[in-house]
Amino acid sequence: MIEKPSEPENEYFARVEAQKRLDAQVKRAAGIADEEKNRLKELHYMHCPKCGTELHEETFESITVDICPSCRGIFLDDGELVKLTERPKGVLGKVRGLFSS
Ligand SMILES: [Zn+2]
Repeated sequence: MIEKPSEPENEYFARVEAQKRLDAQVKRAAGIADEEKNRLKELHYMHCPKCGTELHEETFESITVDICPSCRGIFLDDGELVKLTERPKGVLGKVRGLFSS
């Protein structure tokens, strides 16, 4: 004979089911976010954020900077500005020298 589930049992299973649905939604949203992130990266990776021209890498005192040949913008990755400012005075002037020729 099947017994009628008690109120706490119903509540427990409803909570488990709600958590499963929430987990599935979070997982699906993360997947969509990853897809969008990958799509944007493919579209914009190593392109100037100002003019869209493809960036070129230049190594300057062991730091690789991304340079736009069109608008002459200089772009640094995370932590590279700190590395440059930790160098002796005049280093930023030398970076400017990358563009004078
Ligand atoms: Zn540019």
